[in-house]
Amino acid sequence: MSAGLTQAAYIIAALFFILSLAGLSKQESARAGNYYGIAGMTIALLATVFGPESEGISWILLAMVIGGSIGVHYAKKVEMTEMPELVAVLHSFVGMAAVLVGYNSFITPPVYTGEFAHTEHLIHLVEVFLGVFIGAVTFTGSIVAFGKLRGLISSSSLNLPHKHKLNLAAILVSIALMVSFVQSDGSYFALILMTFIAFAFGAHLVASIGGADMPVVVSMLNSYSGWAAAAAGFMLANDLLIVTGALVGSSGAILSYIMCKAMNRSFISVIAGGFGQVVVVSSEEEEGEYKSISAQEVADMLKDSRSVIITPGYGMAVAQAQYPVHELTEKLRAKGIDVRFGIHPVAGRLPGHMNVLLAEARVPYDVVLEMDEINDDFSKTDTVLVIGANDTVNPAALDDPNSPIAGMPVLEVWNAKNVIVFKRSMNTGYAGVQNPLFFKENTSMLFGDAKESVEAISKAI
Ligand code: NDP
Repeated sequence: MSAGLTQAAYIIAALFFILSLAGLSKQESARAGNYYGIAGMTIALLATVFGPESEGISWILLAMVIGGSIGVHYAKKVEMTEMPELVAVLHSFVGMAAVLVGYNSFITPPVYTGEFAHTEHLIHLVEVFLGVFIGAVTFTGSIVAFGKLRGLISSSSLNLPHKHKLNLAAILVSIALMVSFVQSDGSYFALILMTFIAFAFGAHLVASIGGADMPVVVSMLNSYSGWAAAAAGFMLANDLLIVTGALVGSSGAILSYIMCKAMNRSFISVIAGGFGQVVVVSSEEEEGEYKSISAQEVADMLKDSRSVIITPGYGMAVAQAQYPVHELTEKLRAKGIDVRFGIHPVAGRLPGHMNVLLAEARVPYDVVLEMDEINDDFSKTDTVLVIGANDTVNPAALDDPNSPIAGMPVLEVWNAKNVIVFKRSMNTGYAGVQNPLFFKENTSMLFGDAKESVEAISKAI
């Protein structure tokens, strides 16, 4: 394939990636967005593999078959609830790829000729250094995020003494090492030392961010992986990789910003590893008496209700309760009861998690409302079904300034006449804080697996 054709293919692929992002921004067009992304990536791969700068195509194809088979195997096996973990692992690969590309490009640098050869060489050294730094931070940060999402590492924030000073020192030492790296015309010592510092910095940055802020970390690492890819694009002089990396980097940054706003968190504070946050001790103790209720009683209560709001959370995903929830919704709507859904922006374990599950079960989009659209309606609602949600309906976020989730907007379900909480035990949610909602006068607990409970109610109705 000629160089001109390759460039043309790159431009078409970049357009497909932009269309893909535009498609993914709405539920109705998300499927088309995925197809655009697949088309763009196929064109990009073909143009790169068969482009004028590629050598050893059989090796590339062999690597692609091995990597692709592993990818297909795991992507097929992964449960919806494990999706964020998969995403975190994939981000770590991008980070490691940027580190390896950086070292490779340093060991076998491009040959510059002409008047500006020396300047171009210095710019290349800076690209290598920055690429390896961003890649290393992304790599270990993503591994720690994976550990936290999988429950291998505690979800609460790590609070080393002087943690912010440690982060600042890591950045300052890395800058000093970059100066020395460029001045010495590429010292291995500076590059290797910085790589280890960046590994430690990435791990510490993510470990410092606690429970309920994890959604922002995942989208932030998504953004970092984009910048790491863009850096690799500069080192390889590959325009498409620069464009794609910049698209992923900036869209991830915008998503992180939107999620921070939704959670009332400072963007700068979260990306700086919890800088400026007050460290508070979470309480896991039960506080008061709770009432439990049976499925039959819930069914009777629902039959007497005129308006119902369902607020799903991570537990609905674990139980795969979305199909019976849809069936129950249809039964109630057939009886003339107004049923709507209230979706918290960080419910579940990945942005849009609940919307995806409800769409999968074919719940109509028009009854699925965002938190801001529905929060004022709880006081006019007869019954709220909290299906597997916990942190996102915790009144402590508004009432208790010492709570680790203080300030996070929540679904104010307790304003309804009756609240039914579906869960298996009195255990805490992801953020590890006790929920005073469970002990309120108008709250009843329906213990058991959410799917079985919803099916039992549906049957009783
Ligand atoms: P939570 O994680 O707060 O609570 C989920 C609840 O579901 C638990 O209390 C659990 O209680 C219950 N549950 C689990 N399995 C079942 C089951 N089979 N049947 C019935 N109940 C079940 O969920 P929320 O959605 O309210 O909040 C999401 C949390 O996750 C927030 O803290 C958010 O910050 C965080 N997070 C969100 C991400 C995102 O992008 N959306 C990413 C990473 C973290 P029990 O064990 O007693 O059954």
